[in-house]
Amino acid sequence: MSLLAGRTNRLVGSVIDSSTSLLQKQSHDIVRFAIGSPAEEAIPTAVFDDLAPAVLTADAFDYAATEGDPWLRGALLDLLSDTPDATTGERLTVTAGGMQGLDLFGKLFIDPGDLVVVESPTYTNGSATALSYGAELLEVPTDGDGMIIDELKAAVGRASRSPKAIYVIPTFQNPSGTTMSLDRRLRLIELARSWNCMIIDDDPYAMLRFDGEEIPSIRSLADGDPLVFAVRTFSKIIAPGLRVGWVDTDPGLQQLLINAKQAMDTCTNLPNQRLVAGYLTGGFLSDHLQIQRDRYRERKIAMQQALADHFGDTASWTDPDGGFFIWVTLPGVDTQGLFATALAEGVAYIPGQAFSPGHRFTDALRLCFASTAPERIREGVARLSRAVDHG
Ligand code: PMP
Repeated sequence: MSLLAGRTNRLVGSVIDSSTSLLQKQSHDIVRFAIGSPAEEAIPTAVFDDLAPAVLTADAFDYAATEGDPWLRGALLDLLSDTPDATTGERLTVTAGGMQGLDLFGKLFIDPGDLVVVESPTYTNGSATALSYGAELLEVPTDGDGMIIDELKAAVGRASRSPKAIYVIPTFQNPSGTTMSLDRRLRLIELARSWNCMIIDDDPYAMLRFDGEEIPSIRSLADGDPLVFAVRTFSKIIAPGLRVGWVDTDPGLQQLLINAKQAMDTCTNLPNQRLVAGYLTGGFLSDHLQIQRDRYRERKIAMQQALADHFGDTASWTDPDGGFFIWVTLPGVDTQGLFATALAEGVAYIPGQAFSPGHRFTDALRLCFASTAPERIREGVARLSRAVDHG
């Protein structure tokens, strides 16, 4: 008999994360639209080099406070103070990226069998985390304005029980790139209140808006409501390998978050917290974000243009106002089946069904435009089109 815990059945892994290692093993030239990483040129390595001698002193290699290094916490509070997400220290807990925020949510709130609503499509790792705590997932359709609230009501009605949590990526969603409208954000909060259920407000891309009007976060619209658990990260705005993020929650949860982290990783990686703190207090972020927004707008346009040139009206795709992703639908194409051909052709993407616990979206795929320069984007889309022709 296996000695493994029963819960290992529910550790489904992530097609996205697995593609990082799959791609590392390839030796031929591949245009990489698969992973949601910032552009390599966007990683502020020169600033990190300058900061390192001052911030990576011996004490930076010691254990850190579980709730986060005081320097980073102060810098983060300052950063947020000019935004509608202004917050307080008792609400802020530093995490190992957004993923640990999602995991902490699961640890604190999800009992086996709890109903957790997710957008359809949703972020694979978010649904995988909820599953790992035994959640039953309920997929609710989305459109260009985010989760369809009438469908949410109907789906919960059919389930005949209130959800424990609703997981949303409200801004430039992963994978679709679409943004939940203000009206839907407000209606979502109202419904969560009526059901006494949590909202996981996972919003890593909001600072990367390159077009359109800013929409207040669910966190700010709910105005400190304990039902909102906000997950944030520096991964998309500075660098994912730092593994530094934060959660913004009801102050009553902070001690439990600390206890959970102490049974998990003691504290978030201190050298990286110091690098982020140095970066923020050095005042580098604002110009950096402006440059990235312009860069990502240009790349999105290049990708859409290439899709129009190669696919015309045989495909459709989303038009994000920010973030990293375009979601492409290729009616009649099995995008999972196409993956090996596309990889051989020299282009990588994530098949649509990875973003649906029920394996929907078999004819869709997610492309990350952020990490590839416009000329390479055109080449990658040409390869994708050849793969579809051959596949
Ligand atoms: N949530 C969403 C919606 C994401 O896109 C990502 C990163 N792909 C994360 C959470 C995880 O962020 P991190 O890399 O900081 O753990």
